[in-house]
Amino acid sequence: MRKLAFAIFFTLPFVLGSSIRAQRPMDWDKVEVKLQKLSANVYMIEFVSPSGGNAGANASALIGDDGVVLVDAGYAPVASKLEAALKTISDKPVKYLLNTHWHGDHTGGDAYFSKTATILAQDGARKKMETGDDLSHLNRVNLLRETFPPSPAAALPVITFNDELTLHINGEDLHAIYFPHGHTNTDSLVLFAHAKVAQTGTDFVNMDPSGLPAIDMDNDGNGGPQGEIAALSYIMEQMPDDVKVIPGHGKIASKVEVGRYLDVLTGTTAAVQAGIDQGKTLEQLRQEKVLAKWDYLNTRVMKIDAYLDRLYLCLTRKNVAANDGAK
Ligand SMILES: [Zn+2]
Repeated sequence: MRKLAFAIFFTLPFVLGSSIRAQRPMDWDKVEVKLQKLSANVYMIEFVSPSGGNAGANASALIGDDGVVLVDAGYAPVASKLEAALKTISDKPVKYLLNTHWHGDHTGGDAYFSKTATILAQDGARKKMETGDDLSHLNRVNLLRETFPPSPAAALPVITFNDELTLHINGEDLHAIYFPHGHTNTDSLVLFAHAKVAQTGTDFVNMDPSGLPAIDMDNDGNGGPQGEIAALSYIMEQMPDDVKVIPGHGKIASKVEVGRYLDVLTGTTAAVQAGIDQGKTLEQLRQEKVLAKWDYLNTRVMKIDAYLDRLYLCLTRKNVAANDGAK
């Protein structure tokens, strides 16, 4: 039954973002791969659906004499299109592919590019890719019902890291830093030191209209606000003011949008933590409408009650090791 569910749901990836109106299968032939030059050798990659929404997570390419480095690679069905788009900016093969986390909208293209690329990811991301996960149970979230089956062997990261990894390539220092308990428990922030670019994976999204932060999207309590707060604080404190930020979904951003998202994360977390510290139950916090101030961020993708549930679960869950969610 579980396998059947995998098969059904995996064939029906849906449009993400502000264009959501109803669940519908993606017409992959009409998805456009859009490249946006951010610096001399760094490009943001967007997968645009026929309706203008996201058809997969944002990715990036670092080009140069040493070969192409991809950070994330979108869904599997657009991999050949992505490869063709890359050929317009570089005649080199994809040499490395670094994943920000394990979800299929970021790792679906791994198997395709593994013909030339060494796949890199955090330890926990590889573990989750090995097992897959049925996310169709997502609590109160109706439109992000996706199921990611176990990745094919060719897609699995060959080199994994625990806390940090730096790739010295194409004159760039590409730095991945793992922040546990965020969008999932497998998320890394990726920094292009010389290009002054940060790629957040889905620890940050920049949609219009904006919604509630996509915390703990594996819905197991092992993600949370903590990792997203830590990753975004790192950008605000360590990166220059003119840093260009590639969000997991949505348009290119600056510290303005990152700061706004961080304010929502810290504000909502503090409000729920205050209730927890006073010994209140989730039901009490729901009745008190403790997050009423952020009602304006309610969307069909993440409703305020679901967000409160997740915050409460993540903030009250005890003794969760960084990679527990990946075991
Ligand atoms: Zn994700």
